[in-house]
Amino acid sequence: MREIDAVVIGAGQAGLSSAYYLQHYGIDDYVMLDSADGAGGAWRHRWPSLRLGKVNGIYPLPGFPPVDADADLPASQVVSEYYASYERHYGLHVIRPVEVTSVEYGHDDRLVVSAGADRWAARAVINATGTWTRPFWPYYPGMASFEGRQLHTADFRDVEEFRGQKMIVVGAGSSATGLLLELSEVADVTWITRREPVFRDDEFSENIGREAVAKVDERVRAGLPPLSVVSVTGLWAPPRQRARLESLPWRPIFHELTPRGVRWSDGSELEVDAILWATGFRAALDHLTPLGLRAPGGGIVMDGTRVVAEPRLHLAGYGPSASTVGANRAGRQAAREIRALLSSSELVAS
Ligand code: FAD
Repeated sequence: MREIDAVVIGAGQAGLSSAYYLQHYGIDDYVMLDSADGAGGAWRHRWPSLRLGKVNGIYPLPGFPPVDADADLPASQVVSEYYASYERHYGLHVIRPVEVTSVEYGHDDRLVVSAGADRWAARAVINATGTWTRPFWPYYPGMASFEGRQLHTADFRDVEEFRGQKMIVVGAGSSATGLLLELSEVADVTWITRREPVFRDDEFSENIGREAVAKVDERVRAGLPPLSVVSVTGLWAPPRQRARLESLPWRPIFHELTPRGVRWSDGSELEVDAILWATGFRAALDHLTPLGLRAPGGGIVMDGTRVVAEPRLHLAGYGPSASTVGANRAGRQAAREIRALLSSSELVAS
């Protein structure tokens, strides 16, 4: 077991920002463990037709120039290369592929981070594991009986796989609307959500973003699971895209799946070849289970990035910091608090 000041778990935007600020604050005795086999965080896995020009925007990593590439290139390729050059430029101590399987209480005021047979006894841990590895599939009766193809956003690769097909996209978030726009060019798509989609009329502004972040922050401080940004801000799309989305056939969520499609409680049915569940993701925190952090509300009680029940643990990219700009700030806050924690324990020890 290796004794170390800090372990960062995950090397997406939140992990990279955390590692940058740890180094910036003079904490060089750290490792960043990442389960992927190359740089890019979740962006590494996004579907190739998600072009750079179509994403909401990648906030520049701290101390680095913004992403500068052709808007027609796949975001996965551009962002993976951007993150890789950041890791090289700052000599970040990333080790991969290393999948952390547990974080537990150890001796001597340390947290033990395990990945198979490898273990680190850390004075502080920043968890930055994102959500991509935990796609959320809701349950509906008959799911196993459907004979067509079911897939989640996380499995989606190429619109061409659906050319000429009849399909359903379930979901009301920005992945759902982005995929609907792409798929409706080649397939006969019906949009399904729980409530009828209502778009915001006002222009999306920084104020709206700030209000959304404040609402999610309030939830995680109360120990409730974080909500997606769209569930807080409401749906927004530029005028042309909004008109296209509003022109698509829409139905409320069905009651059950059948071998050939879906059925509503009034008995009506729709036969389809494929169902795409664009139903979001959950925070990938299973490896933290041994710490017993879940609050009765189902979330983890947070104060900024710090876990209230375990101040040696920070969650970056969780809840209000689940965006590239939020991840940057979270990395800074977590590293700053860890610097204070490490220097106060050194004072106590001396
Ligand atoms: P991730 O990028 O998911 O990185 C987490 C890393 O942790 C991964 O490398 C993963 O391999 C690793 N990991 C996971 N579990 C373990 C483990 N147990 N052990 C070791 N490593 C582990 N945000 C924006 O700001 N702009 C956008 O345009 C935008 N578009 C988006 C589009 C889609 C389709 C989705 C789903 C999200 C989008 N987001 C966007 C949100 C975006 O995901 C975040 O902004 C940000 O990139 C997430 O960074 P992260 O570091 O928190 O997580």
